[in-house]
Amino acid sequence: LLSADGQLGTVIFEEITALAATHEAINLGQGYPDEDGPDLILDLARTNIASGMNQYAPGRGLPVLREAIAAHQERFYGLNVDPEREVVVSTGATEAIAASILSLAGPGDEVLTFEPFYDSYGAIIGLSGARHTTVPLLAPDFQPDLAALERAVNERTRVIVVNNPHNPMGTVFSREVLARIVEVAERHGAIIVTDEVYEHLTFGARHIPVATLPGAWDRTITISSAGKTFSVTGWKIGWLTGPAHLVESVRTVKSFLSYSSGTPFQGAVAAGLGLDDEFYRGIAENLQRKRDLLNPGLQAAGFEVYTPQGTYFTVVDAAPLGVTDATELARRLPKLVGVAAIPVPVFCHEEGARRTRSLLRFAFCKKDDVLAEAAERLSTLR
Ligand code: PMP
Ligand code: GLN
Repeated sequence: LLSADGQLGTVIFEEITALAATHEAINLGQGYPDEDGPDLILDLARTNIASGMNQYAPGRGLPVLREAIAAHQERFYGLNVDPEREVVVSTGATEAIAASILSLAGPGDEVLTFEPFYDSYGAIIGLSGARHTTVPLLAPDFQPDLAALERAVNERTRVIVVNNPHNPMGTVFSREVLARIVEVAERHGAIIVTDEVYEHLTFGARHIPVATLPGAWDRTITISSAGKTFSVTGWKIGWLTGPAHLVESVRTVKSFLSYSSGTPFQGAVAAGLGLDDEFYRGIAENLQRKRDLLNPGLQAAGFEVYTPQGTYFTVVDAAPLGVTDATELARRLPKLVGVAAIPVPVFCHEEGARRTRSLLRFAFCKKDDVLAEAAERLSTLR
């Protein structure tokens, strides 16, 4: 996040993770799983390293991974993507987001995000020199305020950033909402950059990629990442797909950010994308079970709990506990009860931070016994 004097602030995930370590707290702050992903892809990464796949990959990504990404888009969403011209592999979704925004927007432009927004969007929009405008997601279901969207978009809006399923709110956007976003973007000539890293982590509600909506493909860059789907957040392999004219300019920017991305991991991720339906069903079911393990504990601790439809985060309201400042509570919580969480206001500008001032985000992508212990510790809050 950019502070008022234009300086980049600290990354909140690092701050809370450090606090958790200091107090030996259970870290339900930063979102990363505490169990490894499928053996198949871990083994393949080791094999790739042992067999000498240790030099630069092509800037666009290994052909085998680009082909697997295209096949994945066809298999799950019926999208026909050209692996040669319409796919680029990135160093995590983070780089794909950065390269997309930097390739599209600059001083004099506006980039719109929904609010709360994932922290890197604010930082990159700031670095691009564009103005960052926001549209709130409203309680209790945290779908976008569509009237506010109409008011916020204008001829200077170059990019509308969508994040679906949504971090931190856990919203899965409905088809109607997505159709309105596409319609508004079309009317104002804006490009949609959609961050769908939690595409496979939904609980009942079906994930609908923006790019599948009528009229959307030509103006949409779709981003995802291996980190969430395969529980390998440390590998930093992401990708983007979209029409060749947009993908080509993002690729140019990417080539000066990192040039290319981790070669031995790319082949492994390609194999992961080809895993069977049972694997994909399993990761969502497992996470839903974990959500349903943690959430009653949060409720028993006295929080108002918003049940997420996707992602691995639950947002709670601490107001019933008499808390008015979630950021202050998040800084105290590791020492107080031995659990760490992320305050939602850090994902907001000033007005949004006021609206969300008592909200906290807990990650439930942790071992069952860790979640049970966290719930136990939180029960002392009341
Ligand atoms: N977008 C969202 C919404 C995320 O939650 C995250 C990470 N948790 C990222 C992007 C970053 O993904 P990566 O680690 O692949 O860069
Ligand atoms: N995306 C993860 C989260 O929301 C963390 C990513 C990071 O540490 N930058 O918790």
